Amino acid sequence: MWIHPNYQAGARRAFRSVSVLMALLILVSSLTFPASFHEIAHYLPLHNLTEAVSVIVASLIFAVLWASRHEVLPGNMVLLGSTFLGVALLDFLHVLAYQGMPELITPNLDADKAIYFWLLARLFSALGLLAIAVLAWKDRAIRVPLGGQVVGVLVLVAGLTALYFLQPDSIPQTFIPGQGLTSFKIFAEYGLIALYLAAALLFWLRMRQPRNYNVSDLFVAACVMAQGEFFLTLYEGVTDIYILFGHIYKVVAYLFLYRAVFVEAVQHPYALLRDSQDRLQATLDAMPDLVFNMDADGRYLSVHTSRPSDLSEPADQLLGRTVSDLLQPRDARIVLDALQEAAVQGQSQGKIITLHDREGQSREFELSVARKAVPPGQAPQFVVISRDVTARRNSEQALRTLSTAVVQSPVSMIITDSQARVEFVNEAFTRISGYTAAEVVGRSLRRLKPARTPATKFRAMWEQLAQGLAWRGEWQNLSKSGREYTESVLIYPVRDAQGRVTNYLAHNEDVTEKRRADERIRLLSQFDQLTGLPNRDQLRELCRDAMDRGDGMAALWMDLDHFKAVNDSLGHHVGDALLQEMARRLRAQLPAAAFLSRYSGDDFVALVPGATQQQAMAQARALLQAVSLPLRLADQDIFSSATIGVALYPDDAAAFDTLLKSAETAMYRAKSDGRHRVGMFTPEMQAQVSRELMLGNALKQALANRELFLVYQPQFALKDGAILGAEALLRWESPQWGRVPPSEFIRIAEANGLIIPIGEWVLRTAMQQLRQWRDQGLPELCIAVNLSAVQFNQPDLPGQIKRILADTGVPASQLELELTEAVAMKAPESVAQRMEELSHFGVRFAIDDFGTGYSSLSYLKRFKLHKLKIDQSFVRDINVDPEDQAIATAIIQLSRSLGLRTIAEGVETAEQQEFLRANGCEEVQGYYYSRPLTADVFAAFVKDHRTQPEA
Ligand code: C2E
Ligand code: MG
Ligand code: MG
Repeated sequence: MWIHPNYQAGARRAFRSVSVLMALLILVSSLTFPASFHEIAHYLPLHNLTEAVSVIVASLIFAVLWASRHEVLPGNMVLLGSTFLGVALLDFLHVLAYQGMPELITPNLDADKAIYFWLLARLFSALGLLAIAVLAWKDRAIRVPLGGQVVGVLVLVAGLTALYFLQPDSIPQTFIPGQGLTSFKIFAEYGLIALYLAAALLFWLRMRQPRNYNVSDLFVAACVMAQGEFFLTLYEGVTDIYILFGHIYKVVAYLFLYRAVFVEAVQHPYALLRDSQDRLQATLDAMPDLVFNMDADGRYLSVHTSRPSDLSEPADQLLGRTVSDLLQPRDARIVLDALQEAAVQGQSQGKIITLHDREGQSREFELSVARKAVPPGQAPQFVVISRDVTARRNSEQALRTLSTAVVQSPVSMIITDSQARVEFVNEAFTRISGYTAAEVVGRSLRRLKPARTPATKFRAMWEQLAQGLAWRGEWQNLSKSGREYTESVLIYPVRDAQGRVTNYLAHNEDVTEKRRADERIRLLSQFDQLTGLPNRDQLRELCRDAMDRGDGMAALWMDLDHFKAVNDSLGHHVGDALLQEMARRLRAQLPAAAFLSRYSGDDFVALVPGATQQQAMAQARALLQAVSLPLRLADQDIFSSATIGVALYPDDAAAFDTLLKSAETAMYRAKSDGRHRVGMFTPEMQAQVSRELMLGNALKQALANRELFLVYQPQFALKDGAILGAEALLRWESPQWGRVPPSEFIRIAEANGLIIPIGEWVLRTAMQQLRQWRDQGLPELCIAVNLSAVQFNQPDLPGQIKRILADTGVPASQLELELTEAVAMKAPESVAQRMEELSHFGVRFAIDDFGTGYSSLSYLKRFKLHKLKIDQSFVRDINVDPEDQAIATAIIQLSRSLGLRTIAEGVETAEQQEFLRANGCEEVQGYYYSRPLTADVFAAFVKDHRTQPEA
């Protein structure tokens, strides 16, 4: 579909032409011409000239249309062509029949014959114009093809000619010589004028609208025809000036018609073609794509691109070559497949090939192929559009990755629009909440208020979001199935490049399990697992709260007597059951307001609020009573007893730590007075309590202040007196407290946890020292280091030892760890495991103070041991006390039978040494040989000893 360009300008031109000719008509018809103008001499040649032009133009109209008959022409044009074939023939007959022309079948005596053909010609043209004006200007509005119409016209013209010659009388007279035109003729002319004007009117109506054919020239032609006809109503003689004007106007009208036809059939299609070519070119230039013409073999027939750099080679070098020559086999195959598909289906779309541009970058192209219409018998051709989709595919890929990440994220996600209407939820959301996407998409997040969450919290969240800020928090929610869960939520606005909020994004994480675990940990951290009683941390917290409130209270520190013996003799499970039962009894005995805690091991602490001294003592006695009731465990009646120390707040102590220490001190004092009793804290104990507390505080600084150091007590082989090694012993030289004995400060360090860093320092210092002695050329020695229970149970101990040995370069075999018998037998299972682990890399173990505890022989066998150390309490009186002799001898025997070495500590006399040697003890240490020595003195001692081997 198209519209005549400048149709309004065409209409204006048409009116101008018609007006000029009209003016001429008025002028000519209003003038009075002299007689000579009515009797033009030699008129015939003039007539023949105008008519010859008319016939030629009319024939041309037909000829042009006949020549274009194979093109798609508007049906009306075809009708106009056949009509003007008739018009040309009739005009020709009119010329031949003119007066003065040689005879046409009959002599041309009057004007009648010529007028007959004239009128027929005019009627033909008038009806023809009217027909094309009436019929819509549509393709195929007239079904009869031009050939058929031509035959029809020829038959009609022949018939009308025959009619004239065969039945002349049936035709009315038109001209009477001397009288002029008959009324029939004039009437006929007016009739023709009316037909032309009718056609002109219809053309005019069409001319006012946009149209797709040259109606303005047709309009002019119809008007000028009518004007010409008007002249012919005026003449009196057949050589009249009016006749001449009539003929001239006719020629002018034909020329307009010819132009209309010529423009339509010849010029216009060319203009259209040019226009469409221009449009095609512009379209191609505007496209970023490569456009190829190809044959079915993938041969490049033409190449078009607005970006020549996209081509792998210059365009002219592609022509004539095929995709198989130029592309990788895989990509060539894809192109050929696309061509094949287009050959069958008319088109192919979406196939992707990968090419490398001139810089070697890989790029992806999407192919669109269309089969071209070619005349039958010609080889098929294809238009191939190749579009660079690298960027699009990359961003699609990036988008896919992103969206997959969001969809599969284990964190529930909600995306809303700027109005907080849900646009998207991921799989985790559905999994956690139980709601599907279909159930929530489109709903406002403002309405999806989590159940079980206060509305105020929700409102506060929206207020914060409205200010453009993120909100983070937790809320309780309810899933579709009614499961209550805790969600950790992060909501934040998402902005576009202009900073406008376009979306909200919510990450919700189900933290129900985590919160439960936190709660469990909190409970565990505050309660003793064995008895379920609050532990010492909670005790401290509660006690401080009470003190802050100013409440007075009594602290009762209870220690079970001989609990260790129960543990050792009956096993740990019995010990545990005993503790549980005692906890139950104590709790039941205490008033509800009292607070009971298992402080450690077999120590319980009770806080009784508001108790006076008397009440506290009474309460303590009641507790002792409860504890001493017999208990049946493991088929035995166990009789327990306890010792309790009592201290009062605020009378005896001003703070939690001192209050407990006071009660503990009172308990120890009571114990030493003979167990199973209640001891009241007295002011005389104050000094000891404050000393312990202050020592504890001072000890915290001791390491950093370099107040700690090691001394080394040599160990010897009894058989030859050679120095085998030394035991490292810790010393604290405090500027404030002087030398504090290890028996005192190590207990404090164990109680407040300082033993961990101090113990590590001891190990490292001892090993560094050993390294230094080696470097000084001292013989290979073994150093024994004491480990406390707390240290030994440290999870990282093996790692720590490994690091120290690696750092100092001391072989593991030169380190011996001493563990007291009590520590080793407290939890023998884990001790065995630990020893196994450490002995793997060569560290040796000795059991210290052997004989003071209760060793299980089976465990002794399992332990990875090197040595047993006879405790000095058995050595002290070994020459006089037969019991000590028996024990020492037994230990040596046991040690032998287990394949271990024996060392005796605390050897002070030659007699002791002799006894031990006589009974097979292998090693000794003690004041008899040397006191513990500082490192320098020890080094000198060793060197000295080397020069005098026999001790
Ligand atoms: P222990 O491991 O049994 O150490 C032997 C103790 O006997 C040392 O006392 C030592 O000086 C002393 N001694 C040595 N020969 C004789 C003697 O002939 N006669 C007498 N009467 N005593 C002698 P010390 O140094 O006071 O150590 C006491 C305890 O402190 C040690 O007993 C040990 O259990 C602990 N200890 C010492 N240093 C450390 C350490 O670095 N870490 C740990 N955890 N405990 C240590
Ligand atoms: Mg020791
Ligand atoms: Mg010892």
